Amino acid sequence: MDNRYGWMEEELTAIAAQSLERRLRPVEPAEQHLQEWITVEGKRLFNLSSNNYLGLAGDPRIAESAERAVRQWGSGAAASRLVVGNHALYEQLEHRLAQWKGRDQALVFANGYMANVAAISALVGRGDAVFSDRLNHASIVDGIVLSRAEHYRYRHSDMEHLEHLLQKHGEHRRKLIVTDAVFSMDGDAAPLSDLVHLRNRYGAMLMVDEAHSGGVRGQNGEGLCHELGIHQQVDVIMGTFSKAFGVYGAYLCGDDILIRYLLNKARPLIYSTGLPPVVIASILQALTIIQEEGWRRKQVKENSLWFRGQLRQRGLVTSDGDSPIIPLTVGDNETAMRFSRLLEERGISAVAIRPPTVPAGTARIRFSMMATHTREELGWAVGEIIEIANELGVDRCATDDPLVERMGHV
Ligand SMILES: *Cc1c(COP(=O)(O)O)cnc(C)c1O
Repeated sequence: MDNRYGWMEEELTAIAAQSLERRLRPVEPAEQHLQEWITVEGKRLFNLSSNNYLGLAGDPRIAESAERAVRQWGSGAAASRLVVGNHALYEQLEHRLAQWKGRDQALVFANGYMANVAAISALVGRGDAVFSDRLNHASIVDGIVLSRAEHYRYRHSDMEHLEHLLQKHGEHRRKLIVTDAVFSMDGDAAPLSDLVHLRNRYGAMLMVDEAHSGGVRGQNGEGLCHELGIHQQVDVIMGTFSKAFGVYGAYLCGDDILIRYLLNKARPLIYSTGLPPVVIASILQALTIIQEEGWRRKQVKENSLWFRGQLRQRGLVTSDGDSPIIPLTVGDNETAMRFSRLLEERGISAVAIRPPTVPAGTARIRFSMMATHTREELGWAVGEIIEIANELGVDRCATDDPLVERMGHV
């Protein structure tokens, strides 16, 4: 027997034994343009799993912009932006982004993963140091690994620990502090004003990933840095178009010099084809809606506060705040999987998030809110969640604040 791939089989068996196996499942919208309900393997499910916070992914206005653009410009950019892929629509988008974000310039990337990898690997290298929150997104971690800089992880949002590391490792040529603005699996916000303070005090650069706060926070959806009035003091702000925008792609923004530097140094930009013009046209339309329709931000916030309040009232433990990411920590992987399966049997899609996406022992169900979920739908979902939690004894195991519990693992 040819056992050339036996090692893969072994690894997969070990993964499955820990209830950690991942599989792909085909998903369809339950009806045209409908994002709040999806069909998974023939079953209609209420969608509490997407990052489509403002309900824009199914917006007919964006679809129309895309249709017009695809007829006019075709399906692909056909080259790297630095060759002949720099379609005029790019310039329009980057100009509008820079204005919206109150910075000199913005630069569009294929997606958030690439934007993070691009920025970090361009800004630091051997002999430099990156100070990164322990719960930062995987794309930030991968960017640090690729950069070959020293990687110092500080305890989640722990400014004392970060300051200690900055003092202890002050000898490096360049220092970069990097954080998610809103953490993707917990929904809590980073102490951005304190981070700016440490940036100034220790002569470090600060990079903030607004993947989950762009479109959702700030007066006109600019993000959390803007809401706090510190957007001019962050060296690199990253945001995606794949979450609240409901499209695809990402951007970095900052000073003129930063963007000129990235254009010459960011390998994921230089060595990869530009986004199709149809995607850029869709983003432009989504940006207009985000700027004009404040009711979406208001509604997603209200839904988030209400849903959290309901879970708490019934004795379940979730993170604080008003972000649309609402985790319910259940602890072990198997319970998380069972919880998710039982929800699905009752017509609700909310995925189990397991290690290595989150620390071991903190497997959770991650509910995400949309502006376009109705109160009636959410109320029904809460009822189902409570019943399952009681059935699985989750209310009793989650008596400790999950965040405090997790700090014990650091
Ligand atoms: C989703 C996410 C990314 C990656 O963005 P994509 O556009 O999906 O590649 C980066 N950072 C954080 C914090 C994210 O949640």
